[in-house]
Amino acid sequence: MGKQVAVEVSGIDFAAAHFVSEGGKCELLHGHNYHITATIWGELNPLGMVIDFRVLKGHLRELCKQWDHLILLPAKSKLIEVDQQDNQTKVKTSEGTYSFPSKNVKILDIVETTAEELARILCNQLMENLTKDHSNISKVDVELAESSTSRAIVTMLV
Ligand SMILES: [Zn+2]
Repeated sequence: MGKQVAVEVSGIDFAAAHFVSEGGKCELLHGHNYHITATIWGELNPLGMVIDFRVLKGHLRELCKQWDHLILLPAKSKLIEVDQQDNQTKVKTSEGTYSFPSKNVKILDIVETTAEELARILCNQLMENLTKDHSNISKVDVELAESSTSRAIVTMLV
């Protein structure tokens, strides 16, 4: 393997609502302005790049669109019950039952909508998208911050 170089982009954001259940208790519905930072490792291509910054930002903006301004719900939670019926999605938690228009929710195949799980999905999707046309990439890091003090970081090797 040749010399590995990293490029990093940050400042790609999306806003979403969620709640996480833990120890039989469930948080109240609330939102975050999530910030994504992606670090891509690889060998330099003939143009002296790991990947064009604009291309990388374009991929990240595309990924953000799938969750932006939506309510994120977990399909596999033991404590949050999600029942989607056509136009309405009912969500039962320890605190009560919510009902949302289905077009406003995104149900994810995860146990809880933690920053760690969301970062894992993003990292996986980004890696799949990038490696389609970038054979020089060897490692993808995605950092997802839900506030200025709390962030999750996922690393995937190609
Ligand atoms: Zn939260």
